[in-house]
Amino acid sequence: MTSQLTDQTITFDGRAFINGERVAARSGAAFDCLSPVDGRLLTQVARCTEADVDAAVAAARTAFEDRRWAGLAPAQRKRVMIKFADLLLAHADELALTETLDMGKPVKYAKGVDVNSAANCIRWYGEAVDKVYDEIAPTPATGLALITREPVGVVGIIVPWNYPMIMAAWKIAPALAAGNSVVLKPSEKSPLTALRLAELALAAGIPPGVFNVVPGFGPEAGSPLALHMDVDCIAFTGSTRVGKHIHVMAGQSNLKRAWTELGGKSPNIVFADCPNLDRAVEAAVGSIFFNQGESCNAPSRLFVEDSIRERFLEKALALVPQYEPGNPLDKATVMGAVVDQTQLNTVMRYIEAGKSEGAALLTGGTTAEPVRGGCYVRPTIFAGVKNDMTIAREEIFGPVLSVLGFSDVADVVRQANQTIYGLQAGVWTRDINKAHGVARALRAGTVHVNQYDEDDITVPFGGFKQSGVGRDKSLHAFDKYTETKTTWIRI
Ligand code: NAD
Repeated sequence: MTSQLTDQTITFDGRAFINGERVAARSGAAFDCLSPVDGRLLTQVARCTEADVDAAVAAARTAFEDRRWAGLAPAQRKRVMIKFADLLLAHADELALTETLDMGKPVKYAKGVDVNSAANCIRWYGEAVDKVYDEIAPTPATGLALITREPVGVVGIIVPWNYPMIMAAWKIAPALAAGNSVVLKPSEKSPLTALRLAELALAAGIPPGVFNVVPGFGPEAGSPLALHMDVDCIAFTGSTRVGKHIHVMAGQSNLKRAWTELGGKSPNIVFADCPNLDRAVEAAVGSIFFNQGESCNAPSRLFVEDSIRERFLEKALALVPQYEPGNPLDKATVMGAVVDQTQLNTVMRYIEAGKSEGAALLTGGTTAEPVRGGCYVRPTIFAGVKNDMTIAREEIFGPVLSVLGFSDVADVVRQANQTIYGLQAGVWTRDINKAHGVARALRAGTVHVNQYDEDDITVPFGGFKQSGVGRDKSLHAFDKYTETKTTWIRI
């Protein structure tokens, strides 16, 4: 199906990608892919089920066993991965517009952040793979023990809708670079760019069968992948609720390795001795409203020390108008549409819960309509939030900031950690001892000190507690997609 945009025409193809070819679902079923920008029908997407997953896994298994990709020297895989990354950049406009239409984020960020980060991730793992050495153990002189890393085999990958290309890249890049074959199940809410990634991978030289994509719904296409007896590893990003189910399915089937990157309710703590209040305000507001608040690491619980809270909130409210939702296709827009009507309704329910449980609504709290037929929520800030209120406990995944207070360091650390999640946290203070003490005490996979948004492919990303198991990004991600083998050799 073709969609005419302001400055480009894109043809969308929603068919699955199996063994290097576009194919309809075996059942012939398809579902409508609607844009949250204005409600338009983008295309119909293959509604894959177990039979399609079986075909994709079989193609991935054959490709893995005949070593058409795993058997290449790391330096050869590197060259192909770099070409794959270059192809993403060469198609940046098309990919960015597709992402924007599919999930509502501003096109400025779809191109400047999502396409660039995904390409950078693929390039980084390509460049890394011929620089990772294996080991020899310190054994007696009569023997040699080689400790080598080998691809785990067929990797199933299930991703959410909030950063479709980046979430896919964080998993396919290390998995492919290590020599695995993959079957990717994108979110039913934003499946289009994943399908294009697979086509670009093939064009770059990744052989047919090595990278397959099965779009569809979680229980219909995701579960068969997680339960599949011939999938060696399942790597999942999504909600904690589904993540728990993924571990159960992995255990129930063939004990495949299961890695999960899950939800968050991250605390951001601003002490009165914060070194730069303006920067702290900009980071707090910018990070919660970026991507319409649909970020797992969004600092959704903001703790501000009493003596500066009023001034902090004044400054925060002054920044809010720049985050009013606009047309995501307009290059000046910084806040776009939430992903669909269901998500909009969820966010509005949380806003109602905040009001009815006694939090003070300072701004927002309503929907907007910068484009007719789209899904837009205004940037929303609640003050006077208590840690046991629904909006402080549950992940909203929308542009809603909860502001809380605290009495002293021990109190704020206790409150910050009083959550089932442990993904990220922020601490703002000029006192180096306090910064270290609080950072160490926070139960989170990443702690930011005097900033919030710093990020880089070189550092691990993942959570403590119910924010998941394992780490994406960095060289640590290779651990997820490789097995360690010891080979004893008598000499
Ligand atoms: P979700 O759990 O509803 O869905 C995620 C994926 O799982 C989708 O592809 C979905 O189709 C699939 N799925 C759903 N039910 C399934 C089932 N029974 N079996 C197999 N697969 C199934 O999450 P979402 O709404 O797409 O994404 C939002 C969530 O993702 C938030 O909780 C967010 O915090 C989390 N997230 C985490 C990270 C991270 O790195 N920690 C990054 C981005 C998003």
